[in-house]
Amino acid sequence: MKNYPKLEPIQLRDEAQPGYEASAWKPTWKCFCCHDTGLVQHLLVKKVIKSYVSGRHKPVECNATNCNIRLGDTLYETETLDQRFSAEICDRLDSEERRMWQEWSKEQHEKRKQRLGLIDSNVTKNLRLRSRTNYEQWEVERRHQNIRNDY
Ligand SMILES: [Zn+2]
Repeated sequence: MKNYPKLEPIQLRDEAQPGYEASAWKPTWKCFCCHDTGLVQHLLVKKVIKSYVSGRHKPVECNATNCNIRLGDTLYETETLDQRFSAEICDRLDSEERRMWQEWSKEQHEKRKQRLGLIDSNVTKNLRLRSRTNYEQWEVERRHQNIRNDY
């Protein structure tokens, strides 16, 4: 029997690396409705299907006008998808999600500016600032999550 080929591991995207600073990250998706996966993000699905549970209910096909992700034929042939979301719905979800990220990154930018100001004014406090920064980050993420759940 022949040996398997030896392959090197391929790193995940930068934002998935440990210690990656979230505030430096910007989403680069073309489609904010499905984050370029072709399937509507489940938090967004819940705006239309209130009791939607990802993993239990069919994934929802993204039909946003600017979305050019093509899902595999098998998904259609096996009727795996919920195809009820019109372009109109997906476009609306796309723009709401877009707005959400803009607000979030504006917030991140402000936080960063404040932080840099603090670091400038007293370099020796660096260590303390660092832990506070993580806490701030956590707070922001949490608030972001709350906003998402509310809207
Ligand atoms: Zn899409």
